[in-house]
Amino acid sequence: MNIPLMDLSGCYSQVYDEIMEKTKHVINNTQFILGEEVDRFEEEFAKYCNVNYIVSCGNSTDALIFSLKALGIGPGDIVITVPHTFIATAEAITAVGAKVDFIDIEESTYTMDPQKLKEYLERQDNTENIKAIIPVHLYGQMADMERLVEIAKQYNLKVIEDAAQAHGAELNGKRSGEYGDVATFSFYPGKNLGAFGDAGAAVTNNLQLAEKIRMLSNHGRLEKYVHQIEGYNSRLDNIQAAVLRVKLKYLEEWTDNRIKKAQYYTKLLSNNDNLVTPMIRKGARHVYHLYVIRINNRDKVRKKLSRKGINTGIHYPVPLHLQPAYKYLGYKEGDFPISEKVSNEIISLPMWPEIDKKSIKLICEEVNM
Ligand SMILES: *Cc1c(COP(=O)(O)O)cnc(C)c1O
Repeated sequence: MNIPLMDLSGCYSQVYDEIMEKTKHVINNTQFILGEEVDRFEEEFAKYCNVNYIVSCGNSTDALIFSLKALGIGPGDIVITVPHTFIATAEAITAVGAKVDFIDIEESTYTMDPQKLKEYLERQDNTENIKAIIPVHLYGQMADMERLVEIAKQYNLKVIEDAAQAHGAELNGKRSGEYGDVATFSFYPGKNLGAFGDAGAAVTNNLQLAEKIRMLSNHGRLEKYVHQIEGYNSRLDNIQAAVLRVKLKYLEEWTDNRIKKAQYYTKLLSNNDNLVTPMIRKGARHVYHLYVIRINNRDKVRKKLSRKGINTGIHYPVPLHLQPAYKYLGYKEGDFPISEKVSNEIISLPMWPEIDKKSIKLICEEVNM
């Protein structure tokens, strides 16, 4: 038996012919950078997110960097995120010259804890340098955006949603991307909507912000020979846009399948007192980029599964404040106890839209044994 953590081949066989047709068209037209497919994809994905403006980029780390820069954040500023995330969230803050600070997560949903954010802000003598928060919609579930946005307003902080793992996630009828000043999405191949390489986007309802992000992504220009500012080169390839347009048509169907498979996992694991299945926030649509449980003796369970050919992951094993790269921030073990506890107990079980119920049953039998 060999069950991978995720299997991209199912989605691809479903859309293979359509994608080959479309990419052949792009190649025959020799329009590789920007172009018709990029324009159409931007329209379609903005509509999917229920937002007015979108800027596609080379990847979502760049989309985060451009969003921070476009909000005017730079040296001397502080931006708050969580330690329990992929490093890109924090890297983007440092990349614009600002300082990273962390707020611990909720133990139930693994996302930024609004209560801890509030306490942190109340503890500061001066919050003038704190400019923004970046909550992460981890594993496919949105952070508590209602409360986070409310606190951010009170302290005049900008809100950037890291929605790299949460295409189409919802909270109280709003989609990821609708709550923040800006939100960023990744189309890395393994994400819920994945290209055939790196790709990403920033979405916003603020036209000025969108134009700044657009300029930053394309050498500081909105028209061909006028460079308003110095920017970067980080655009979506027309070929990638063609791939994404085809796949976007199936995203809702794939997401519904992810939800069904997650529900099946939860049903088979719910009687096991040694583990915790994903908690869904009231009013939320969790899109299960990953199906993550917490379990006693995590490493032993992983080894046992691995011997049976079941591949699992840990997202993420070391919280950012304990990573060598962030040693300079001066944090130590015990500073963010929930992130540390969670990182020792989590396992990501195999999850993709077409995983069959028989495999899930086998996996759960091993986990429960
Ligand atoms: C994947 C991911 C990113 C980075 O996305 P890229 O497109 O690879 O740059 C950022 N944040 C989170 C939470 C991610 O999962």
